[in-house]
Amino acid sequence: MDFKGLWTTIKKNAIHLFKKARKAIKRYIRKLVKHTKAGDYSVLIYTIFALVALILIIVMFANIFSLGGKKKSTLDITTTEVATPADVTEDPQIAAQMALKQQAMDIYSRNKDFIFLVDENHPLAEGYSFEHHTLNCGLDIDKRIYNDFSEMLNACNMAGYEYNIINAYIDKATQTELYNSAVAHYVDQGLLEEEAQAQVGKSVDKPGCSEHETGLAIDLTDVEVLGEEDYKSTRGTDQWLMNNCHKYGFINRYPANKVSVTGVSDEQWQFRYVGREAAEFMAANNLSLEEFMELVQ
Ligand SMILES: [Zn+2]
Repeated sequence: MDFKGLWTTIKKNAIHLFKKARKAIKRYIRKLVKHTKAGDYSVLIYTIFALVALILIIVMFANIFSLGGKKKSTLDITTTEVATPADVTEDPQIAAQMALKQQAMDIYSRNKDFIFLVDENHPLAEGYSFEHHTLNCGLDIDKRIYNDFSEMLNACNMAGYEYNIINAYIDKATQTELYNSAVAHYVDQGLLEEEAQAQVGKSVDKPGCSEHETGLAIDLTDVEVLGEEDYKSTRGTDQWLMNNCHKYGFINRYPANKVSVTGVSDEQWQFRYVGREAAEFMAANNLSLEEFMELVQ
């Protein structure tokens, strides 16, 4: 398109129009003077009316546009000397916190199926069930997370890392066995049942209180990790998973920098599905699941 040519045409037309308007106004003034001199005041009166109306319209539009802006009248300035709730939200830090909360609540409302706490204080709902998908390794996960999970593992492989799936779904009966044998271990050493339970603490979850019962939690490590004592979280695969899991809807469930919030220090290899939107949000804002839940309360 020839913009230069277009501009010349517009300019030419504008000048032409301006000349025409000037001629019309001159003609009108001549007519006004002629009629008024002849003692006919009708044209003069009409002109005055038209000018007043034009001024009123301009003032009206000016008011509408200035009200749209944040211009305060003198009355507002005297009243805002007293702090009001509206002024509090103008504090940028509080406003940012409120915006973050709103965003979290929106994300939560769209992903409730995957975002909930399961721990000692939040037992899984009685009869909680989901459609299972059995992985090649023989472990089960929630079928809804399979696509994202396999995409993450493929990306991990593509990045040159080898992983090992340690744990996925654990049914309640197995969790009960795990828990009971952990307690029995301490009872055998001479502790009372209650003392033994306290000793087990958070290292083995009580039945109904393990995230693994949801099918949304997976223990995942570098292929070279032999066991809990051998886990360092500094191997390539573990680092890759921690840094990239959020892109696939997972969060590192018990990271080292959140032990004070989660109370779990020996499960850095656990990843938990919360959905892509929520995982991205939690990673970007450095939030654990506990902190996210507190934000949406
Ligand atoms: Zn685990």
